[in-house]
Amino acid sequence: MLFASPAFALDAVSLQLKWTHAFQFAGYYAALEQGYYRDAGLDVALKEADSEINPVNEVLEGRSQYGVGTSSLLLERAAGKPVVALAVVFQQSPYEIYAAPNIHKLSDLVGKRFMLEPQSQELLAYLKREGIPLDRIQQMPHSFDAEGLMKGKAEAMSGYMSNEPFYFHQAQYPYQTFSPRSAGIDFYGDNLFTTEKELREHPQRVKAFRAASLRGWQYAKEHRDEVIALIRAKYAAHYSGEYLRFESDQMIPLLQPDLIEIGYMNSNRWRHIADTYADIGLLPKQFSLQGFLYDASEPDLSWFYRWLLVALVLTLVVVSVALYILRINRRLQNSNSELASAQQALAKSEKHYRLLVDNMRDVIWILDPLTLRFRYTSPSVESFRGFTVEEMMDMPMDKTLPPAAFAALAQKMRDYMTEYLSGRNPDKVYVEELPMLRKDGSVVWGEVIARYLRNEETGQVEIHGVTRDISERKAAQETMHHMAMHDLLTGLPNRTLLNDRLQQALAASKREHTHGALMFIDLDKFKQINDTLGHEIGDKLLVQAGARMLECVRETDTVARIGGDEFIVLLRTIDAVQDALNVADKICAAMRQPFAVEDFHLNISCSIGVALYPEHGSDGVELSKNADIAMYQAKEHGRDGVELFSTYGKSLPDINA
Ligand code: GH3
Ligand code: MG
Repeated sequence: MLFASPAFALDAVSLQLKWTHAFQFAGYYAALEQGYYRDAGLDVALKEADSEINPVNEVLEGRSQYGVGTSSLLLERAAGKPVVALAVVFQQSPYEIYAAPNIHKLSDLVGKRFMLEPQSQELLAYLKREGIPLDRIQQMPHSFDAEGLMKGKAEAMSGYMSNEPFYFHQAQYPYQTFSPRSAGIDFYGDNLFTTEKELREHPQRVKAFRAASLRGWQYAKEHRDEVIALIRAKYAAHYSGEYLRFESDQMIPLLQPDLIEIGYMNSNRWRHIADTYADIGLLPKQFSLQGFLYDASEPDLSWFYRWLLVALVLTLVVVSVALYILRINRRLQNSNSELASAQQALAKSEKHYRLLVDNMRDVIWILDPLTLRFRYTSPSVESFRGFTVEEMMDMPMDKTLPPAAFAALAQKMRDYMTEYLSGRNPDKVYVEELPMLRKDGSVVWGEVIARYLRNEETGQVEIHGVTRDISERKAAQETMHHMAMHDLLTGLPNRTLLNDRLQQALAASKREHTHGALMFIDLDKFKQINDTLGHEIGDKLLVQAGARMLECVRETDTVARIGGDEFIVLLRTIDAVQDALNVADKICAAMRQPFAVEDFHLNISCSIGVALYPEHGSDGVELSKNADIAMYQAKEHGRDGVELFSTYGKSLPDINA
């Protein structure tokens, strides 16, 4: 305790607040709490006001040395009261007019009651500027709470944007707001003032008090939540944190701390305020500000210093340039830190998307449709195609697709581009299944989903797309297709595929006037093999029999199994009837050769019926029927032989070319 007491007795002064404790006076609480006043040798008491107390009179009559005022101090000064403005804390005034919901425009106030608080005459200037006759408005004492308006004590009231709206909102009261700034009335808000007497008798104290107070404001601005907690703890426990945060949200911007230093006063702006008061007759024209504005710099009246004036002016210029640079720097610093945090956020989201892109199997890409080169491909291209991202971007697209696929796609892309440029369907999405070349020369299938877009920065059209590996799907499709067209046991074409090929062969024969043959082959007494050796041996025999038949024909011919022990051979072109009979004999001979199936040596034979086209049928049905008839004739003639379809009474057709 010994060390806590100051070495010299502190100078006791008091500051008369404008109203009850609130964030509006945050800087003074902070100055006190942070010991700024004590450091300046001052023991400061903060005094609240109420509706009975006029803060200006309190100071003028010496009950306080300092006070918090508004721009209406000018009016007091004009009334002969020697007040001096020390610093402007709020660069803009928070005063607004709040009105009942039925007051839609200011002129609706004519004849109505208006509660005006002391020091808020700037609102009268506002009304006057808007052409409202002041004598036709019933001015009345303020209720000093938002309730007054809500309960209908008046149709309008002066108020603080940091105060009344909070309560209106809380009560869900649909109030109207009229702001003087909308009429170009831009007055200063709270200021710190004293009297000429104080300034004359205690110039150092004035200076110290002013500096410590402004330091407090700087602190309050930077430690808003801490000061709110302080206010609730020591000054105004009845306010909720929510209210004080609302108030500070409204008040801090009025400090305009980013633009100018706290406390700054501009004599031109005071001049403008004085002129505005003069406009409504509250001040004489050209009212002198002499003595009203405190000069924070040291007095410099001695002749001894006069010759330094030029140097001083120069210094001022340098200082203002330095200050200007400092401010610009500060602003730059602020915007740099905003930039940095925006960049951080961007980097974070980029990382997020990159993670997604890098780890997805699909390939995302952007293609330039003019150069047919990729502008971007995601890293997944490497596992999909074997090419690195760089290699992929280096290659024109025609090198990345099999030639036939590229030719077909290039045509489509020209059509799609025309469609996009027509603007008829700009959001259309195109889907293509394409074979694509891998670096090792193999083909991989991709499903491409793409759309055309105009790049807003370059103005060029781009194709944006996603490619998915569908090789597995393609392979499954091919297997299904193969299964649908082939016999499961022997792997030979089945009836469906045979019919296809027969249709093609008949059409070609018609077109090219060529001849062909259809042979029905049925194994002889095959049932016995099944019955004696079992189905499995029978199956294996069928497989081998099919393979032998295949060896007896050309590649362009077809050997099909159409069920049981029945096969059909289609000879696509023959030059003479004998050609067909020769092939049939060859097959018969091949069947006669013993088959080795497991441990058995099996001897079988087959019966073959041959029909020729176009001679024995111009369509598949007729031709098949006739080959079948011929085959049965072969069976009837003792099996193990070949029979050519014949129409009784007709001679063999002469197809020898
Ligand atoms: P034929 O000389 O008159 O042709 O006498 P066959 O015993 O061969 O009689 P047919 O051609 O009418 O009967 C074919 C037999 O082939 C009937 C059945 O036992 C057998 N078979 C049919 N499908 C299969 C099969 O998928 N596997 C096996 N192992 N045998 C089959
Ligand atoms: Mg048979």
